[in-house]
Amino acid sequence: MRIGVPKETHPNEPRVALIPASVARLVAIGADVAVEPGLGLTIGFSDKAYEDAGAKICERTALFSSSDIIVRLRKPPQEEIAPLKKNAVHISFLDPFHEVSLIDALVRCQISAISMEMIPRTTLAQKMDALSSQANLAGYASVILAAEKMNKILPMMMTPAGTIAPAQVFIIGVGVAGLQAIATAKRLGARVEAFDTRPVVEEQVQSLGAKFIKMDLGETAQTKDGYAQALTPEQIEKQRQGMAKVCARADIVITTAQIFGRKAPVILTRDMLAQMKPGSIVIDMAVESGGNVEGSKLDEEVVIHGVRILGSGNLPGRVAFHASQMYSNNLTNLIEAYWNKETNSFVINLTDPILKGCLITHNGEIVNETIKNLR
Ligand code: NAD
Repeated sequence: MRIGVPKETHPNEPRVALIPASVARLVAIGADVAVEPGLGLTIGFSDKAYEDAGAKICERTALFSSSDIIVRLRKPPQEEIAPLKKNAVHISFLDPFHEVSLIDALVRCQISAISMEMIPRTTLAQKMDALSSQANLAGYASVILAAEKMNKILPMMMTPAGTIAPAQVFIIGVGVAGLQAIATAKRLGARVEAFDTRPVVEEQVQSLGAKFIKMDLGETAQTKDGYAQALTPEQIEKQRQGMAKVCARADIVITTAQIFGRKAPVILTRDMLAQMKPGSIVIDMAVESGGNVEGSKLDEEVVIHGVRILGSGNLPGRVAFHASQMYSNNLTNLIEAYWNKETNSFVINLTDPILKGCLITHNGEIVNETIKNLR
């Protein structure tokens, strides 16, 4: 069975779906791996490095027509579905909640599409969980970006020339990205505060040495996968009021608040920005899913009331080498888990709990219950 890896087409995407070390693992289980010329150049892997690991170098068109499994990072351009082999497996992020016509194309062309964002959050599937592996690195990158942009330092310094107070960092949303942002800001010596609507997070925040901001918003809930559920407009308003003071004392605010499958909540308003210190930095990590900060723009810096708001997309791409390594491991763990060594093939079992969660289309229909129910 051939596993083909085309280059990413998005202009702002230095990450690579499969690195040579993963190629070697897949070749070892009996797969035939083919990669597009120049696949790894953005992170320093030459075609020779892939060949040495056992891959063949294959032009894009031939890659599509000869591969039984296509792996990528970002969702495929729709025009690249029809050239795939009938019944091929396609593994990548897919954005299945919003990509209606792309899903239709996958159905029409009888592609078995696995969506990496739909890997269930279970212990068994943790090693395949690319949302988490990328969010973790994004959390790190957000703090480094803020530190670079700020005209202050993060740690406390006592010097003969005077004492510098530690920077105040406020993290809103303490999922995978938020936890890593807290840990990174702490390592750099900042004083860190954090808030999340899921009360279970309090202990995790404290274990990292940060302060959890308590707010009584009434009943808040999380799904069985640990995702937050949306707040009511009244709860969001209460949250904004509770947060304004914390934002006002912060040098850096990082917002990571997301609701899985839905638009992110706006939690930092212009009024709140007006109360912040001029020169402080806000990083809106939810900018690609609608934004947590009023006025933030994707891949732009916007200054509102003297506060610099960065809506940097693709934060994991800032640390593309390690982000690629983690994503490549996630993919390889997934393929290995369903690889039958006797038949040398990837076997789709529709009753498997992990595949049930992340397989979206198969045999010319939508098989995923969540996505089917959106229609
Ligand atoms: P996410 O990216 O969906 O959201 C980020 C955070 O924003 C979440 O913590 C969420 O509660 C929070 N949020 C939502 N609305 C908010 C609001 N109005 N104000 C403040 N915060 C708000 O979350 P995630 O990073 O995917 O993680 C969700 C949870 O799942 C975490 O507890 C994480 O540890 C857990 N998880 C478990 C597994 C596993 O068991 N295998 C794997 C990954 C994550």
